[in-house]
Amino acid sequence: MPRILYGGTFDPVHLGHLAIARAVADAFGEPVFLLPAADPPHRPPPGASAHQRAAMLELASAGDPRIKVDRRELNRLGPSYTVDTLAEVREELGPEASIIWVMGIDSLQQLDTWRQWKRLFELAHVLGVERPTGPADPEWLVRHAPAVASEVATRQCRVPELAQAPAGGYAALPMNPLRHESATQVRLRLRQGGDWQSLVPASVAAYIQENGLYRLGDAG
Ligand code: ATP
Repeated sequence: MPRILYGGTFDPVHLGHLAIARAVADAFGEPVFLLPAADPPHRPPPGASAHQRAAMLELASAGDPRIKVDRRELNRLGPSYTVDTLAEVREELGPEASIIWVMGIDSLQQLDTWRQWKRLFELAHVLGVERPTGPADPEWLVRHAPAVASEVATRQCRVPELAQAPAGGYAALPMNPLRHESATQVRLRLRQGGDWQSLVPASVAAYIQENGLYRLGDAG
């Protein structure tokens, strides 16, 4: 059975993230581990602390056995490089286990800017999830991220095949319907006004309100 990891800033976690995690968990019949990043190398500092982002993930996943939270990146010093996380998980699970790294295709488009990005495929499979910012079809990726497209072209698998080998595959998971939520949208609406509550679980909305999050500063 595969270990499925879904990393992100989750600043804050929204209903789109949860729908994706559930769709992936259903596709494999295995839980998905959400990994909040401690100090993301590709983004400006987060609006909420790592502890607060992880707390919101715990609230959002409570009572759903398909979604778990893995805090390992918060326990490491320095930036959260995915390659380090995957090396650590590979060490724990051994060479035979299937490891699947889940990401939205907007992130996939920037994969070649990640530290040791080609090594990610030695350590795990990548599952790209469709997002409204662009379809997951290979032609779209060729136009928007040629280096990533040529890397994944040789690695194309069907989704279930990712559970049958340890690493090295790429598959695209269509989302139907596509999820339009983004954490940016949640933060902007909180700052500027608008219905942000419908974008997050009620427990997360209550936490944001109790802690006065995202109301000041750069909504990003
Ligand atoms: P921000 O708006 O701050 O950039 P985000 O909503 O994209 O945040 P992240 O924590 O950066 O959230 O996302 C974690 C992962 O989830 C990334 O791989 C991202 O592509 C993916 N993701 C987030 N929202 C969606 C969505 N609505 N549909 C598909 N993938 C998504």
